Amino acid sequence: MKVIVSFDYELFFGDTPGTAERCLIEPTAALRDIAARHGAPFAYFVDAGYLWRMEADRFRDTAISETYDMVRRQLAQLAAAGHDLQLHVHPHWEDTRYEGGNWRMNLARFRLHAFGRELIRDIVARYKAALCVAAQGSDVFCYRAGGWALQPFDVIASALKENGIYVDSSVYPHGVDTSSLRCYDFRGAPPDSVWRFEEDPLRKAVDGYFTEVAISSIDVKPSYYWRLAWTKKFGGSRYQAFGDGVSRSFPAADIWTKLTRRTHYCVTLDGYKASLLHDAYRRYVRRRREYLVLLSHPKTLTRHSLKVLDDFLTTCRGDGSDIVGYADFKRS
Ligand SMILES: [Zn+2]
Repeated sequence: MKVIVSFDYELFFGDTPGTAERCLIEPTAALRDIAARHGAPFAYFVDAGYLWRMEADRFRDTAISETYDMVRRQLAQLAAAGHDLQLHVHPHWEDTRYEGGNWRMNLARFRLHAFGRELIRDIVARYKAALCVAAQGSDVFCYRAGGWALQPFDVIASALKENGIYVDSSVYPHGVDTSSLRCYDFRGAPPDSVWRFEEDPLRKAVDGYFTEVAISSIDVKPSYYWRLAWTKKFGGSRYQAFGDGVSRSFPAADIWTKLTRRTHYCVTLDGYKASLLHDAYRRYVRRRREYLVLLSHPKTLTRHSLKVLDDFLTTCRGDGSDIVGYADFKRS
């Protein structure tokens, strides 16, 4: 089996976004060491709106300029070490300002779809250009929607096409979130690892322009979320996230669903959820799946996550499973 270890490289969203040092630089440096030890390339979906915003505002404040340089340095190191840097779009950076030493985020337009078609085109072009400057010659052809807000895809398809994006990696089978913030429904996704599509990522089209590389998912029992809540509170520093920001709180109805019903989530290294990785891997191997695609975030990794990743890469090597980036899907 081939395994893609992907990370969304971003701050938190809302009133407490956290610092680049703690949310990005420190955990990613730890990942870089693990990757080097195992000779494994990882894939980073970089929140390119953050780069664009810092690039645009860097002369207004030396703190922005220093952070921008630090983040760019890290991305250049990742590119030089053979890691994959791809496009992640969170368009709320259009409405975010730097005030009093902090980013003031306005999440009213969290989805790319909240902008008109012309502006979507402009945003994708600007953000991709900002990423290409930082990515130092890496080939950027793959997209991941911020907050999985990919649908309806036809609204953003031409903006991606025009900017040389022909691979998407946002869909996770059985995933659903009907909140107005994200609003996605992947319950009708094909049961495959990879497929072609044209304007609807859930409908296979043999000669479709786009390739979907699905994020792997697993079903999670309610008892797991009860354990997770306990570990977060009493688990100690091993289970403390690197990031110093605060996640947006989920609606009470969502939390109740997770605590009372089986739900699906991405295969991940984030926080305590990393404990499910080994089982997910075994299941994917048993089903003879072609790919296992992990989605994690440096900001929510813990010491426990890093240990799980280290052990996981050793297991993969022992089994002959290859760690790859998105280069398999690159077109000449
Ligand atoms: Zn994101």
